[in-house]
Amino acid sequence: MKKIAIIGAGIAGLSAGCYAQMDGFETEIFELHNNPGGLCTSWKRKDYTIDGCIHHLPGASPSSKLHTMWKELGAIEDGRILFDSILRRTIDSGGNELNFYTDLVRLKEHLMEISPADKAVIDQYLTAARKFTKFELLAMVAGKGKERFSMIPHLPKIMKWGPISLEQFASRFKNSFLQKAFPTAQYDFQGIPMMIHLSFLAGCSIRSMGWPVGGSLAFSKRIAKRYEELGGKIHYRSKVKGIVVKNDRAVGLILEDGTKADADIVVSAADGYSTIYEMLNGKYRDDLIDEYYANPPDEQEMNAYVSLGVDLPLIDLPHGVTWLMDKKLELSDRNYQKMDLEVFNSKTEMVPEGKSVVRIPFTASYSYWKKLSNDRELYVDQKGEIAEKVIERLDGLISGIKEKVEVVDVSTPITTERFTGNFHGMQVWTPRSKPGRIMSKGLSKTLPELRDFYMVGQWAQGLIGIATAAVQGKKLVQKLKKR
Ligand SMILES: Cc1cc2nc3c(=O)[nH]c(=O)nc-3n(C[C@H](O)[C@H](O)[C@H](O)COP(=O)(O)OP(=O)(O)OC[C@H]3O[C@@H](n4cnc5c(N)ncnc54)[C@H](O)[C@@H]3O)c2cc1C
Repeated sequence: MKKIAIIGAGIAGLSAGCYAQMDGFETEIFELHNNPGGLCTSWKRKDYTIDGCIHHLPGASPSSKLHTMWKELGAIEDGRILFDSILRRTIDSGGNELNFYTDLVRLKEHLMEISPADKAVIDQYLTAARKFTKFELLAMVAGKGKERFSMIPHLPKIMKWGPISLEQFASRFKNSFLQKAFPTAQYDFQGIPMMIHLSFLAGCSIRSMGWPVGGSLAFSKRIAKRYEELGGKIHYRSKVKGIVVKNDRAVGLILEDGTKADADIVVSAADGYSTIYEMLNGKYRDDLIDEYYANPPDEQEMNAYVSLGVDLPLIDLPHGVTWLMDKKLELSDRNYQKMDLEVFNSKTEMVPEGKSVVRIPFTASYSYWKKLSNDRELYVDQKGEIAEKVIERLDGLISGIKEKVEVVDVSTPITTERFTGNFHGMQVWTPRSKPGRIMSKGLSKTLPELRDFYMVGQWAQGLIGIATAAVQGKKLVQKLKKR
């Protein structure tokens, strides 16, 4: 029986572990944290559970191609799924409100009520959304070669809606509120292709996108449980320091405490930079990898959050709310003209009855926070200052919230870096050069000249998402079986 050592119990590592166990390999996972999940996590603050990840779970319903995989991984076995009737509500201070209803008939009526003069654009939008209900973008991206061929009938709509951004489409509306509000459909990603928004909206409308009750850590823990039931072993608080290589073959791991683990095959499902440049001392790499890690962006959307535990039910608010503010909000080194809210009320089963968590993402500069973090006091003060400003401003939207805040939690890129080991506390980014090459072949699924070594997860594939991470684990095992 071949022995596989897996680094990292994020979704990719857990998935690789589960499928390898199912296929008769002997595996062990080494995880630096004391919990599974990596980025797919939540944490407790008093009675409140703060969720750090899933907004949308692709593959939520049996009609989805990804559903079987989640079932095999035990991820939704006993988990219940919530389906929002509103993908996002965007409001301005003048009382205008745009609801992205997931019921497409209702959405059309609502848009027509806001702006009858925009009938032609609204028709175009809704017709496209309906077409996307027959096309599961994520399943295709994550799919095998054969599945990707089934993309061919969908090429016309991909070509039509791929090159247009949310912002560009919004400019077609005559109504000035729709022009401003429409680009907020997908959080801070106004520049993303309409194709992605249409996939999300369509996915929510046919309930192939949902939200797992209990949140991200509960979701990850179900996969970890499945892995252990299959006979796998997770070593928590076991940071891998090095990958042992003999004659250009990976033969095991060495942990930070000096413990060694032998293996026939090593799989890293951990951060790409530390795997390639630290655990392997930068010995196995190519120009593409070097260029990628030499040019990281300093900022990334939604890489920092202010999370508030509030003694308010907020039962009338949808999960996603965007507030277009009249006055700019200045947070550390940036100005914000809008505030995005993620609302977790008691329907999510993550907060006590009648209470809620409100999370407000912001875009943080890694270098700014890294510098601050060298002085613990300054770092903590800055987090406190940001939280205060956010609470003060939020009181203008949810009157009285200021008095109801029971828990304040601020996470920055430094938090993510510390807890998940991810490079600069980031998720994988789209590179400036050769994005197409990375989309089709991945960034570093294997490394040049190194045998018996594989990578899975966001840094291997060059794509984010829990579904793509899990699919890679599955695909890797299919490949190993054929060796
Ligand atoms: C705020 C936020 C919201 C998101 N929302 C969604 C969403 O709605 N839907 C969606 O599909 N995706 C979402 N994502 C993306 C998704 O969470 C990630 O793409 C996915 O979880 C990445 O999984 P992974 O296994 O590749 O990596 P990771 O989750 O980073 O896992 C890597 C694991 O390796 C461990 N590790 C690192 N270094 C070492 C070491 N030296 N030794 C041992 N272990 C190590 C880490 O602790 C971690 O557990 C979101 C991400 C964020 C940050």
